[in-house]
Amino acid sequence: MKAIVIGGGIGGASAAVALREIGYEVEVYEQVRQNRPVGAAISLWSNGVKCLNYLGFSDRLAALGGRMDHMAYADGHSGRTMCRFSLAPVTEVSGQRPYPVARADLQAMLLDDVGDAVSFGKRLTAIEQDEEGVDALFEDGTRARGDLLIAADGARSRSRAYVVGEELPRRYAGYVNYNGLVQIHESIGPADQWTTYVAEGQRVSVMPVADGRFYYFFDVVEPAGREVAPGGEIAELRERFAHWAPGVQRLLDAVGGDRVNRVEIHDVDPFHTWTRGRVALLGDAAHTTTPDIGQGGCSALEDAIALQWVLRSTTLGVADALRRYQQARSERAAELVLKARKRCDVTHAKDPAATEDWYASLWQEDGTHSLGGIIGNMVGAPL
Ligand SMILES: Cc1cc2nc3c(=O)[nH]c(=O)nc-3n(C[C@H](O)[C@H](O)[C@H](O)COP(=O)(O)OP(=O)(O)OC[C@H]3O[C@@H](n4cnc5c(N)ncnc54)[C@H](O)[C@@H]3O)c2cc1C
Repeated sequence: MKAIVIGGGIGGASAAVALREIGYEVEVYEQVRQNRPVGAAISLWSNGVKCLNYLGFSDRLAALGGRMDHMAYADGHSGRTMCRFSLAPVTEVSGQRPYPVARADLQAMLLDDVGDAVSFGKRLTAIEQDEEGVDALFEDGTRARGDLLIAADGARSRSRAYVVGEELPRRYAGYVNYNGLVQIHESIGPADQWTTYVAEGQRVSVMPVADGRFYYFFDVVEPAGREVAPGGEIAELRERFAHWAPGVQRLLDAVGGDRVNRVEIHDVDPFHTWTRGRVALLGDAAHTTTPDIGQGGCSALEDAIALQWVLRSTTLGVADALRRYQQARSERAAELVLKARKRCDVTHAKDPAATEDWYASLWQEDGTHSLGGIIGNMVGAPL
């Protein structure tokens, strides 16, 4: 059996590894000419790490993961700690420590494993299928044929309309995420802690990744479609956060003139048609979410495992197996998209009173509420 995978991101690459593991011949087609992930890093919660462990990456991933033992919130203006607690319960309940990892490292690890099965510079333009198989048609006039096609072509998926039957609108979540990597400095936050400064419906966060670096991000509430001159991001952040705590100023200093990624955050209303015959959506193509609970990439990894299981365990044919994959995954993924949206609205002051209530609760927080949320996001995961 041969699988065509469109997209070499976290979803496509992990699906390729999962399918190859059960004996499929796999070809991955990626539109970019070079592996250049968008965004600096990602927090892989225990459910996502367990999927990668299952696919044989335990040691390699552990070497890339930051040591994140604690979590803390600080008042964005004064810098005073609102609450601080251990993340050990997440590891104890799930059986696996979560890891923040640099995206470039994660992507390189996955694509290295997929090896020369990946073809770069191949942009999918159309899909055709018949009784015998499915064809992917590319912009350069070439095509590839397989028994099934996994469309892991991301949040702006071209395949989605083919599968669902219509274009689904993306919804602007109301904020822009600026992110990057800096060397760890304890004046920003402790080296083993996920530290988040909050105020004004905005947040500034640092998480440790391998090699003594912090993954940082600033969430800025602003209108969609605003143009920022290339390289002008740091000036924007300096202006916006000039009155914030000393730790935030140290972070801005550490960023200096380095490149800052700037991403407008969107999601898509959950939908449950993920397959059409021999074609299935996977990852962000199937469930575009805001990153507010750090579960988008983890969900893509869960998809890859679920896909492997249905193809390994059922015998009624490709279309039937893909429908079972949809059935196994779409409810859970939808639930996470909606949880993330709810969290997003509170964090970013959609209703300012609710956000003020949340800030007030953070001064009293002993970890019960936050850890309950993080652990709750993993309930229903395949592993
Ligand atoms: C700011 C931010 C922070 C995030 N933080 C987290 C986090 O902490 N934890 C977490 O789990 N998730 C996080 N996410 C979500 C996570 O990044 C995504 O869920 C994940 O990258 C989805 O992987 P994917 O492979 O489905 O899509 P993508 O990573 O978008 O990959 C899709 C690939 O398909 C390719 N492609 C697209 N169209 C075509 C085409 N027509 N032909 C060929 N190739 C094509 C693209 O070039 C791309 O390489 C975050 C997202 C953002 C924006």
